Amino acid sequence: MVEIVTLDHHFRDTDQVIASFIVRKGADKILIETGAYATYEHLEDALRKEGYTPGDFRHVFLTHIHFDHAGAAWAFARHGAMIYVHEVGAPHLNRPEKLWNSAVMIYGDQMDSLWGKMEPIPSVQLTALRDGDRITVGDLVIKVLYTPGHASHQVAYDIEGNIFTGDAGGIKIGQGPVVPPCPPPDIDIELWKRSVDKIREARPHTLYLTHFGPVTAVEEHCTALRNILDDWAGFIYPHYKNATPREELVSLFVQYTREQLAHTGLDRHMIEQYEYANPSYMSVNGLLRYWKLKEEGRLQ
Ligand SMILES: [Zn+2]
Repeated sequence: MVEIVTLDHHFRDTDQVIASFIVRKGADKILIETGAYATYEHLEDALRKEGYTPGDFRHVFLTHIHFDHAGAAWAFARHGAMIYVHEVGAPHLNRPEKLWNSAVMIYGDQMDSLWGKMEPIPSVQLTALRDGDRITVGDLVIKVLYTPGHASHQVAYDIEGNIFTGDAGGIKIGQGPVVPPCPPPDIDIELWKRSVDKIREARPHTLYLTHFGPVTAVEEHCTALRNILDDWAGFIYPHYKNATPREELVSLFVQYTREQLAHTGLDRHMIEQYEYANPSYMSVNGLLRYWKLKEEGRLQ
């Protein structure tokens, strides 16, 4: 049996927004997700409470390279860890300038306070993964599921029926509903739904979401995620067609999604957690891009 510990990064001084996971079996252990470098000290604190330092982790697995998942991976590499990531993402961690510059276009002067710096990871410390790979760390066997749709290089990890979904499993905080994080540039609703089906078909008993924590009602969760992917994309579509000005669309979308959240009984704090994990303007940008590429026939 594996033992799983959920670590809270206290991103933006808020609980349950971004997680990492320790997975251990006997003396063997790995870390899944590193969060942003801006919250690295919080992660160090959380590790210390479990009796570890970052240098104790020789194997660090990332679901994808977005800053909230992979931003601090380089710091673990400095301590000698091997970093595991999908083959499409690996070169960007070796040469993070492009990743950094495209994030600057979105976050501007908030880059440092939100994410912190990102240093290159030497290629010898990057293991590029493909669908179906099985990585063995002592007694731990980690099965790689390629699960694009949120990001073109997103993978999930199946360890004895626990699937670490990254963002392919959506966001669900506390008793709140599942919602899909839809930042540009890779959103593909059809691919994403296929990835949800792939996760479901692996018959996990528990999903571990980076935003945030374990979900045991797997069937219900997957169905709800498929539905809300269509729902959000469907909300944006007429605005894409009619070229609603972006700012107006963002406020309409915020209103729409806030109502969805409030409808399920979430209080203000929880709505804030959801907004930190998944900024509304980002999903507007990602879904507009999805419709544009789809209508231009540029999605598979
Ligand atoms: Zn994320």
